Amino acid sequence: MTDELAVVGGGAAGLMAAVTAAENGAKVVLFEKNASVGKKLLITGKGRCNVTNDCDLPELINHVAVNGKFLYSAFSAFDATSTKAFFESAGVPLKTERGRRVFPVSDRSYDILAVFKKKLKDLGVKTLNAAVDAVDKDLTIHYGGRKEAFGAVIIATGGLSYPATGATGDGYKMAKALGHTVTPLRPALVPVKTAEKWVREAAGLSLKNVVLRCDLKGKKLFSELGEMLFTHDGISGPLVLSLSSCLKENMLGESLITVDLKPALDMKTLDARILRDFAASQNRELKNVLRKLLPASIIPPVLTLSGVDGEKVVNSVTASERRALAETVKALKLTPTGFGGFDEAVVTSGGVSVKEIEPATMQSKLVKGLYFAGEVIDVDAFTGGYNLQIAFSTGNLAGQSAAKSLKTERKEKTMKKHVNVAVDGPSGAGKSTLCDMLADKYGLIHLDTGALYRAVGAYALEKEADVSDKDAVAAILEGLSVTVRFEDGKQHIIVNGDDYTDRLYRPEMSMAASAVSAHPPVREFLLETQRSIARENSVILDGRDIGTVVLPDADIKIFITVDAESRAKRRYRELLEKGFTVDYDTVYAEILKRDENDSTRAVAPLRRADDAVDFVNSDGIEESFKRLCDLVEAMMK
Ligand code: C5P
Repeated sequence: MTDELAVVGGGAAGLMAAVTAAENGAKVVLFEKNASVGKKLLITGKGRCNVTNDCDLPELINHVAVNGKFLYSAFSAFDATSTKAFFESAGVPLKTERGRRVFPVSDRSYDILAVFKKKLKDLGVKTLNAAVDAVDKDLTIHYGGRKEAFGAVIIATGGLSYPATGATGDGYKMAKALGHTVTPLRPALVPVKTAEKWVREAAGLSLKNVVLRCDLKGKKLFSELGEMLFTHDGISGPLVLSLSSCLKENMLGESLITVDLKPALDMKTLDARILRDFAASQNRELKNVLRKLLPASIIPPVLTLSGVDGEKVVNSVTASERRALAETVKALKLTPTGFGGFDEAVVTSGGVSVKEIEPATMQSKLVKGLYFAGEVIDVDAFTGGYNLQIAFSTGNLAGQSAAKSLKTERKEKTMKKHVNVAVDGPSGAGKSTLCDMLADKYGLIHLDTGALYRAVGAYALEKEADVSDKDAVAAILEGLSVTVRFEDGKQHIIVNGDDYTDRLYRPEMSMAASAVSAHPPVREFLLETQRSIARENSVILDGRDIGTVVLPDADIKIFITVDAESRAKRRYRELLEKGFTVDYDTVYAEILKRDENDSTRAVAPLRRADDAVDFVNSDGIEESFKRLCDLVEAMMK
């Protein structure tokens, strides 16, 4: 049904998306081609499920190898603390281990999956065990020979790693068919193969507290302290997986890995330590004495690489031989020759290009109502719980956004016809807040027209034009384009392609807007933008001349008033809350000045339209809003 949300893929991201959307009131259908959801989740962290990394937002972003900044909004909305709260409040206690890795106290990934399964059931999410074959641009889903239309679709199909869990890259195909770019896919967080054959002898040996370093053309590419292990054809373990995010195929011929087996000891201390070991067992063979210093299976290669005979008794080992040994221990050399494949990869690098996804909502920039979450997106992070955090954060954000868009759509449909509401009033009368609330309640789009004048003011300031000079301002209009984009109900003002929204409410912008708004060319310049939005949508516009000039035929006209002092107090509080340093007297003086500017200017002065209804915004916001709704509903009849 078209007011339902389809989530494609029941992995970490899809599960979080489905649960979040359902919690936000959406009807959700979850498509999972396996017989049960969460197959890969169960095997992550060696079956213990490393749900997140207990760190703050900058640290999270730091540990994302590719496109970290894209995740800023997703991480802000749902961070490591949110992940922990999500599971703990559902009755799964967590613990934090080395490297801030967070696991369930039980060490069982089943407990994590159980949280999702219970929520899906409690929230009435319908799970369909079917493989999705395709998604159309109109959000029709094809599966098992059937077709079904949805109001929103979240693609959360995962990557290509661990194909045994069902990760076969279906989502990339769907995204491509919908016009999206998929960046080259390669296994990420993979073991590294080495030229040195001796690693086989040490296979299975795991080293803790070593420093793994990799140099590219003699310059440091990677260096970190942690854990690693030897495999039959190379190296693996957390340090190596992280290294594999930086080391690319084309760097292989020119890079060298060194492992410092004793990072806590410098050369001098290490030599002293070796001498002490020697002194304690003078007549024993070197290879046996070294056992005090190193794990057994690494001793033969260390001896070979140092060129020292292990059968020698220690008191015949020379100073230069000791030095060679110490040098090898501090820098065990390994030559990388290749990487493990998707079957060994923890995650997939590459995916749907982040340039085509809105970071604030996870919505596709190409297909309205389509969202992405998790590994299918071109992001990937180091090991340590970061990749699951990405899945949860993007899943949460996509779920929230999709639920919200479905709600707005439903509201728009309940509005019988095309409606235009015009709201005017002086600066600081609280128009914007009340209009936002009205828009939300009645499913209208709210256009705060003051922002358009602010945008012209901001641009004029940027161009260093004298804002009070009509001709100077008219001249800058030549190279100016101001458009409005609505994203999940929030308006964005785009100036020559750049989003200016955040800078429009700085204190200096009010007077600049007030000044430029008095010039007829500016009013003329912004008129059609406002009218066309009102023609195409059910809207509520607020400003100074909406009922009189912009929408003289509006269905409903309201004129909001409040005395100047209350307005000044309100604006003053708002600015303080936004963190600006201002003094009350200046704010008050500015309100009076703007009132004067607005009501005495020659064109479109602030005045109540003859057919407008007066509304005094004097009560608390809740009370006021109730009164306003009564008024609107009376007028709608
Ligand atoms: O409402 P806001 O304070 O954001 O508006 C900024 C300025 O833009 C106002 O001081 C007013 O002078 C001007 N304006 C206008 N006509 C509108 C909306 C705003 O002249 N419709």
